[in-house]
Amino acid sequence: MSDSPAADATGTTADGVTPRWPRIVLKLSGEAFAGTAGFGIDGAIVRQLAEDVVDARSMGVDVAIVIGGGNIWRGMTGAGAGMDRAQADYMGMLATIINSLALQDTLEQLEQPTRVMTALHMEQIAEPYIRRRAERHLEKGRVVILAGGLGAPFFTTDTPAALRAAELSAGAVIKGTHSGVDGVYTADPKLDPTATKLDEITYMEVLNKGLKVMDPTSITFCMDNALPIVVFDALQVGNLRRVLTGVAGVGTLVR
Ligand code: UDP
Repeated sequence: MSDSPAADATGTTADGVTPRWPRIVLKLSGEAFAGTAGFGIDGAIVRQLAEDVVDARSMGVDVAIVIGGGNIWRGMTGAGAGMDRAQADYMGMLATIINSLALQDTLEQLEQPTRVMTALHMEQIAEPYIRRRAERHLEKGRVVILAGGLGAPFFTTDTPAALRAAELSAGAVIKGTHSGVDGVYTADPKLDPTATKLDEITYMEVLNKGLKVMDPTSITFCMDNALPIVVFDALQVGNLRRVLTGVAGVGTLVR
C-alpha cells in the first residue's frame, strides 16, 4: 500500500507537489496484465499496477481506468482467422471485463473503493456505465474501471479511453505501455538503435508519421477535444506518480 502523503483540497500533497491534472483516465493495455507469460493475468503485475493507482489516489487525483483485453482476446485475431469481425470484437469486449474484475479485486485488497462500470450490461457483476453515476463515484474518491470498451465493435479500447476522458472532464489520457518502451520515439527503438525518445509531440506528427501511440481514431478524437495524452512505461514502479507530478524525462506528452 502507498505511504504517500494525502493531498489537501487544492490537490497539493504534504510534500508540496500539485498533480498536473485533478482527474485522469488511465489506459492500460490488457497485455500489461500478462507479464512475461504473454497470456492471462499475472497477479503480481496487477498488484504492482494497482499500488500505483492507489498512490495516485493518495495525491487526490480522481482515477478512471480503461483496460484492454489483448492478454485474452483481440477481435482482429479472430477476424484474421476467418471469424465475423463484430462477433470477434464482442469477445474482445468481454475480455476487457475479465481484466477489469481482476483489477477491481486487487484494488479492493488494497482497500481502495472501486466500481466497475460496463458498456455492455452485466448487472450481476458490474454497474452499467452511466456518465453521471461515474462522475459521482469519482467525486467520492472511488476508482472507476470502465469495462467493455464502447460496447461497440470495430474499435479498440483506446477510443473509449479518449471518449470517457472527454465526457468525465479528465485533464488527460495517461496511456501506459508495458513492453519496456517508456514513451514515443522517433522510430521503433527495438528495431532502430538511433531512435530517440521525444518529450513532446503533436497529434498531427503522430498521425502523419504513423507512430504507434494509440490508434488513430483516438488520436483524432483527443486532437479535436484538446485532450492531452501522456505515454509512459506503466510497469516502472512509481512512474504514474512521476507523470502526475511532471518529473522531467518521464514519458511523452502528445498535445
Ligand atoms: N473492443 C471493441 N470495441 C471497443 C473496445 C474493444 O470491439 O470499444 C474489442 C476489440 O476486439 C479489441 C478487444 O476488444 O481488440 C480488446 O481491446 P484492445 O485491443 O484495445 O486491448 P489491448 O490491446 O489494449 O490489450
